This record gives sequence, structure tokens and C-alpha cells, in this order.
Amino acid sequence: MYIKSKSLLLSFLVLFVLNSSSLASQLTSQKINQVIKEAYNKYKGDMGGKNADYIDALSVVDSKIFGITFVDVDGNVYEIGDTKKVVSIQSISKVFTAALVMSEKGAKFVQNKIGVNATGLAFNSIIAIEQHGGSALNPFVNAGAIQSTSWVGAKDSKERWMKIKANMSAFAGRDLKLNKDVYTSEVNDNKRNQAISKLLDAYGRMGSDPLEATTVYTKQCSLNVSAHDLAIMGATLANHGKNPATNAQIIDSKYTPKIMAIMATAGLYDNAGDWLYDTGAPAKSGVGGGILAVIPGKFGIGIVSPPLDSYGNSVRAQLAAKYIIEKLGLNPLAQ
Ligand code: GLN
Repeated sequence: MYIKSKSLLLSFLVLFVLNSSSLASQLTSQKINQVIKEAYNKYKGDMGGKNADYIDALSVVDSKIFGITFVDVDGNVYEIGDTKKVVSIQSISKVFTAALVMSEKGAKFVQNKIGVNATGLAFNSIIAIEQHGGSALNPFVNAGAIQSTSWVGAKDSKERWMKIKANMSAFAGRDLKLNKDVYTSEVNDNKRNQAISKLLDAYGRMGSDPLEATTVYTKQCSLNVSAHDLAIMGATLANHGKNPATNAQIIDSKYTPKIMAIMATAGLYDNAGDWLYDTGAPAKSGVGGGILAVIPGKFGIGIVSPPLDSYGNSVRAQLAAKYIIEKLGLNPLAQ
């Protein structure tokens, strides 16, 4: 009897120690909120960088907007600042249209027809295409993104646009709206993207008329999103394609590792290596000032702040994300 109760006591003790050590390694919501707040206060006054101005309407967006949202895979939200203020999604849209093409045509199609390697050059580079025999190299530079748009199966431009908008809205869990000022401003001044699409067409890489695809691409870049929306979209990728806010399965889980791999390789353009080195997190930026990052299996992160560095990446969004990922020990490559 004595022996029996002693061993029982021992097993209780072991259980207690195991349990408390796993609890210690878990993040509490209090800790997450505290670190997000620290990052917000630390960088709120940092007005380094400047709004994109090659698209007129982006130069007049309020540079002071600063919002940080984390959404975990259970749908819990942690946020601070201007998390409901919207900016145009711009290049972050490229992730979701590539995901749509992957769903329709498979992972091999995206790899073979568009590519999944870094260009090491600016997001709107024409030289990159020429250097690689007509390959855009990846769907997150303008060339590859216009290609993705062209490969979305549709009978006409209207249907292509409706499918792309519906897909992004499903990732966000709400109906995303077009920013008409940004769209009008860019669509009347997108000769460079038109040139890129024509060049790709000459190499036989486009799935639809190049100018039509460029117009739809410009529209997809002009959808408004908030930091909150971006975090839900990221959490959907973190949660194997299932939106934790709506519980809808948006993309087959077999594709999310592929999409995140391209985000890791090319999400922050020609500065993607530095970003990955510092954070280990797949991410995507847009010249509207948003950054979406993913901690696979854990969090979607959405941060909005319009002023950009020379690569076209939001200055404060990068600083805040790096701070929080480091402080909470979220670097996926360190797990
Ligand atoms: N619409 C923008 C463009 O085509 C998107 C660029 C970006 O966000 N890097 O130039």
C-alpha cells in the first residue's frame, strides 16, 4: 500500500513538472498583447521612409497610419493602433492570385510556367525577364503576377476580376472593396506593366490578352485592406488554408507550404534574404504600406504603415514585425 501510494505521488509530480514546463513555453494572450504594444510604442514616432509616389494616389495616403494585428489559428485577435484603416493591398494580392492559379492548375504549373526563384532585382524589373529567357522567375514580381492573373480560368475580363476579388475576399473573410482613386490613378499610368505583359506574351507565357490581364492585375492591386484583414488572410495560410474567422477551407492544405515557400524566397523582393535572415517568416509586402507575415501553424500577422524603404517595403511594418517575432520567439526556423 505504502509503495503503491509513493509511486502514485511520483507520477503526479512528474505530470506536474511536465505540464508546467509546457505551460511556460506557451504564449499567454497577456504576453502577446504586451509585446505588440511595446513594438507599437517603440516605432510609432519613426517616420523613416516615404510613401510610394510612382502611383499618384499613393503619395497622398496618410503616412501616419500604423496598425498591428496578430490572429492565431484559433481566430483569437491581438491588435493595436489603426488596425481597421484601409490601404490598397498592392503586391500582397500577388500571393492570393498565385494561390488561385495553383488551385486551378496545380503546383507544377506555377513552378514551370511562372517560376519560384528570386530575381534579385526590383519588383518591376524588365531586365530580369530578359536575363532568364522570358521567365518571370516568380509570381510575386510584377511580371509573374500579371502572368498569374492571365492564367486564372475565365471566359472574359469581368469573370477573371470577379474570381480574383471573391478569392481574396474569402481569404479575408469579408467582401473587400475597390479603392477607385488608386485604381484610376494606376490604370492610367501603367505603361511599364503593359510593356512587361507584352514582353511575356512575346515569349508565349501569357494565358490571356496581355493588356486585359494588366488591367485586371491593376484592379486586384487596388483592393482595400486593413492590418486586421491582412492578419486574417495570413492566419488562413498559417492554418493550412482554413480561415480561422469563418471556418471555411479556402485553399487545399497541400498548396499552403508551396505558397509560403515563394513568400520566403521572394516576398520582400530583392530584400527577401535580409528579411528571412532576421525573422525566418514567409511574408509579402505591398507598396500601399502593408506587410503580411505568416508563422506557420501559429499566427497570421498584418501590419500597415505607408512609408517605404528603397526596396518598396514598409519601414515601420518591418521594424515592428522583427521586434515582435524576436521577443515572442516566433522565428519558424528556430522551432
Ligand atoms: N500595383 C503595383 C505595381 O504594379 C504593385 C507593386 C508593389 O506593391 N510592389 O507596380
